[in-house]
Formats: sequence, C-alpha cells, structure tokens
Amino acid sequence: MAILTMSGYLDARPRVGYFYTGKTNAHILSEKVKSITVDHYKSRPVVVNEASSVYEAITTMFLEDVGTLFVVDKLATLSGVVSRKDLLRASLGQHSLETIPVGVIMTRMPNVTFCEESDFIIDIAKKLITKQIDGLPIVKKVPHGSGYEVTGRITKTNITSLLVDLANNETI
Ligand code: ADP
Repeated sequence: MAILTMSGYLDARPRVGYFYTGKTNAHILSEKVKSITVDHYKSRPVVVNEASSVYEAITTMFLEDVGTLFVVDKLATLSGVVSRKDLLRASLGQHSLETIPVGVIMTRMPNVTFCEESDFIIDIAKKLITKQIDGLPIVKKVPHGSGYEVTGRITKTNITSLLVDLANNETI
C-alpha cells in the first residue's frame, strides 16, 4: 500500500480510505520529471575573471575539462559566458591571445541565460534547446546589491545523468 501510494497509483482520504488515482505509468513519470529541480543535478561552476586573457581561458577550459566558462567582474558577479566556439573564433583573428581579455569576446549580460537552484530541470532543458546552448550558470542574487553570484552550472551532461537515473528508477 505504502509503495503504491508513494508511486502515485493510490491515494488516501479520511473516511474514503485508499482509492485508485487513475494515473498511468506515463502520467506518473511525467509528473516526476516535472518536479525535479536544478539543485539535484548541478555541477560546480568554472569561473574566470573578465580581465583574464583568451589564452588563460583556453588553458582553464582544458585543465578543468569543461565546455563553458562563466565570466565574473571585479565584484565577482556574473558578467558573461565564454564557450568553446567563442574561443576558437577569437583564435582565428590576428590578435595575440595573451592580450585579448575574455571580457571582449564573451556573450555578456543581459544576454546571458541563467537559472536558480529552485528552477525545474525540465524548464532548463527547454531553454537549452530553444537557445541552442550547452549549459547555464546557476546564480543567486547578491544581497543588498545588483548582480548575481555564480553558484553552479547545469549542462546537457547533467540532464543526461537525469535520463540515466530515470531509466534506472534512481531519481530522488
Ligand atoms: P559551443 O557552440 O561553443 O559548443 P554553446 O552552444 O553553449 O557552445 O554556445 C553558443 C553561443 O552561445 C556562444 O557564443 C556562447 O557564448 C553563447 N552561450 C553559451 N551559453 C550561454 C548562456 N547560458 N546564455 C547566453 N549565451 C550563451
């Protein structure tokens, strides 16, 4: 009974007792997926300062083994995003990679798509598809100030982990 109630197949009401909810497997799976929030599938963010050079950003991307770097300003608040292709494009130019700051080539605020830990992962998945990007910074509003502190990242890889957990029935 407890397992069927927890799974959503049965519900209980005072004076009525247990009753069948009428939900199908697909309905229950869909509700489960829609209830999972970003904080359960996040990764740690990899952040560079906007004054760092393109060369340093490329090195960080290799050392940290990520595809997207988040860029912060002097106050450590989110100012942009740099992807692999942004760095490749910058490398094709005639400039020295040691002297161009990432702040010049990044996708900058307010054009950065971001999310918060309490957001639903299904909404993030839809944003990744519609915006054609690989990941989003997870942020927290800076108390008593403007801007956002970067607290995590959520990428296509995290969403793939969720898919595997769903298949193994191991989601929270
Ligand atoms: P790549 O094309 O390098 O594999 P993406 O598809 O993630 O990586 O990035 C495509 C473009 O979108 C890049 O110019 C990048 O700066 C930008 N971008 C990446 N993530 C975001 C984001 N969260 N918000 C806004 N723009 C982004």
